[in-house]
Amino acid sequence: MAKITKQRKVTYYIGAGMMVLGFILFISVFFSVASMMSSPSLDVGRFPSFSNAIFGMILIVAGGVVMNIGARGAAGSGLILDPDRAREDLKPFNEAKGGMINDVISNIDVVDKIVNVREEKEIIKIKCRSCGSLNDEDAKFCKGCGKEL
Ligand SMILES: [Zn+2]
Repeated sequence: MAKITKQRKVTYYIGAGMMVLGFILFISVFFSVASMMSSPSLDVGRFPSFSNAIFGMILIVAGGVVMNIGARGAAGSGLILDPDRAREDLKPFNEAKGGMINDVISNIDVVDKIVNVREEKEIIKIKCRSCGSLNDEDAKFCKGCGKEL
């Protein structure tokens, strides 16, 4: 049973924390706008800081990326282009049936397929000795001239 390393779990939770923090920042700006609307006394000092909303959004996006790296590993999330390591990194997803990674599990099948296709593309062909046609590795007769291979 493959396990997600502690390091990756910590990375995942840091990303989750960043997203929560970003969401709170974003929402707090929304609420201060709403409260300003309800009491329309023009107080410049209470004007909501929109940079907080932008910072909140950046935190949400960055947190999502960090969570992804933590959950899938550096190779599994595409940070490092290494199919073998990606398969190793994504192993916990194929075995996990629940827990913290439920929300991203739907993406994993796609990633796993891409990795698999890359590896299965190596097809061996046999060249016919009399006509030169390429035949499948397990073919008994040439599809070009019909002679036994
Ligand atoms: Zn042939």
